[in-house]
Amino acid sequence: MLMHSYESKMKAMMNEKDQLLNSATIRTKKLETCLQMAEQEAKIWEKKAIESEALVTDLNTKLTQAKATRHEDAESVCNGDDEEQRQEKMVCKMCHVRSTCVLLLPCRHLCCCRHCEGLLIFCPVCETVKNGSLEVFFGLN
Ligand SMILES: [Zn+2]
Ligand SMILES: [Zn+2]
Repeated sequence: MLMHSYESKMKAMMNEKDQLLNSATIRTKKLETCLQMAEQEAKIWEKKAIESEALVTDLNTKLTQAKATRHEDAESVCNGDDEEQRQEKMVCKMCHVRSTCVLLLPCRHLCCCRHCEGLLIFCPVCETVKNGSLEVFFGLN
């Protein structure tokens, strides 16, 4: 009788342990499934990230292209170069520092400053021998 009850107690305990083990196994399986799902999700996100990265790169390329085009447009539209050329025209052909204010004769090239004119024998533009010069005054104030 005593033996019997002990045995049944043991059995009950074993059953309980089995159940615990079972539920543990189930929990592990659930966790595994969760992990797999998470992994899959991570893969999806990774793919999305790569896709967005590609998109960003593409956009950057387009932006750079657009900037380049706009720069070209700006260059062709803007008078910046003209202004530079005009300024260059107004700089002495000899010293490239002072502005031109002397008109050479007989060729009438306005191409050098007062200082360089004294050293010139011929025009730096057309190489005509100088036989005279005129200092000019721009009507600018
Ligand atoms: Zn000069
Ligand atoms: Zn000249």
